[in-house]
Amino acid sequence: MNTTINNHEQKDPVHSAEGVVQENVNAVNSAKTRELYNKRQQIYPKNISGTFRKLKWAVVAVLLGIYYILPFLRWPREGSGSDQFVLADFEHRRFYFGPIEIWPQEVYYITGLLILAGVGLFLATSLFGRVWCGYACPQTVWTDLFIWIEQLFEGDRNQRIRLDKAPWSFDKAWRKIGKHAVWLLISLMTGGWFVMYFNDAYVVLGGFLTGKAPFSAYVFAGALTFTTYALAGTLREQVCTFMCPWPRIQAAMLDHEALSVTYKHDRGEPRGPHKKGQSWEGRGDCVDCRQCIAVCPAGIDIREGLQIECINCALCIDACDEIMDKVGRPRGLIGYDTEDNINRRLKGQTSQFNFIRPRTIFYGTIFAIVSGAMLYGLLTRHTIGVNVIRDRAPLFVTLSDGSVRNAYTLKILNMSGADRNVAITFEGITNGHLEGETGKFENNELLMETKPNKVSVVRTFVVASPEQQKAKSVVIKVKVRDLKTNEVATSKSVFITGTE
Ligand code: SF4
Ligand code: SF4
Repeated sequence: MNTTINNHEQKDPVHSAEGVVQENVNAVNSAKTRELYNKRQQIYPKNISGTFRKLKWAVVAVLLGIYYILPFLRWPREGSGSDQFVLADFEHRRFYFGPIEIWPQEVYYITGLLILAGVGLFLATSLFGRVWCGYACPQTVWTDLFIWIEQLFEGDRNQRIRLDKAPWSFDKAWRKIGKHAVWLLISLMTGGWFVMYFNDAYVVLGGFLTGKAPFSAYVFAGALTFTTYALAGTLREQVCTFMCPWPRIQAAMLDHEALSVTYKHDRGEPRGPHKKGQSWEGRGDCVDCRQCIAVCPAGIDIREGLQIECINCALCIDACDEIMDKVGRPRGLIGYDTEDNINRRLKGQTSQFNFIRPRTIFYGTIFAIVSGAMLYGLLTRHTIGVNVIRDRAPLFVTLSDGSVRNAYTLKILNMSGADRNVAITFEGITNGHLEGETGKFENNELLMETKPNKVSVVRTFVVASPEQQKAKSVVIKVKVRDLKTNEVATSKSVFITGTE
């Protein structure tokens, strides 16, 4: 590979399809000798059409559609505080996702989701390289959108380079102002929409439109507006190269069998310009047109091999396929491939793709176990819960007949959308009885009604003779039973009859 790099560095740009391509070569060469505080070379990605560009636009449309539409989708929830399909309601300490309503004590579902997202990313990376970076990462999605806006105002790569070099004029000014204005508008919408995932979307929208949104909404929307504008508009590839930790972490996920966008040097070398009618004997298919560099949003040369800057967006595949069509060679000089396949072909063997490998089995197994556990948890999820808070001062009260009384505050969670009648009992005490400030007693059970999607608080007392207990501190179980469905929730506490 080093030989090919040197060849590339020495090439004369004369055969290049565009004169301005030399700018990019300089940028790439400069990157090779980059110093710690070297000035950034502006990258002007060329527009390209092709299979992967279309796929990326489809992904951009779907993801942006989800982002902007999701807050306005509703899901009817009986007795609940919100009917928004997706909502992280910090004020009422709830997370809603369609039919799923997560309460604070069920935060393990959020933990499970984060684990699934992480392991899913590891699995995807070990199978297909940086697909997340190239297609689905918000930085990629919004940068694609911003570059498209830039092209609308300033034209394709060559025009943008010329415009930047040109002195200020009315034409240059309106194009620049127009581009930045649209960028700001999109950034503003991105920031504003983000707030809608934490507050009712219609209320937030109404607040923004009338200027009556809470101060915190403006702060968060403003912060997101700034970061969107800065990251997608101006910093672009620098975010992936210098700010994001994922390119470093992914190195541990990748092995020689992981698919990634690859220049097939076994087929492309020796490279060089090619004239129509010339023989292809004794040379590679790469005509050194540098179109793969011109379209690259990271401004790199894929022919130099795997690089940390490469986000695997696959646009260089489209660019090279277009050139291969023009020169009459088979497509796929750049394509999804593996280093091992290149080595196999160099040895005269055929390519093979090994998707089932120890690391993919490992990640796949963890993914299956966690998602299975979460699914089981959701399907068998309790809709009633109880938390017991024991009075600590005093620890116990001795009554006139010699018996001892302990006080407990029960928080009964009704996580359903309907009123529920429940019975509360205490287990683990010998010959004790239950008393309460509210509710009705029947057979030593405290009966009470709980409101939908609410926490009901009830003060209870357990009274028992200290002599009849096994120890001065006895573990007791508080049991709350739904009288209709018999669903039971339990929690442990202690009954104290004296100090040691
Ligand atoms: S080298 Fe190719 S895949 Fe990598 S970032 Fe550039 S265009 Fe995208
Ligand atoms: S686009 Fe293809 S032919 Fe042109 S320089 Fe890149 S790899 Fe070579």
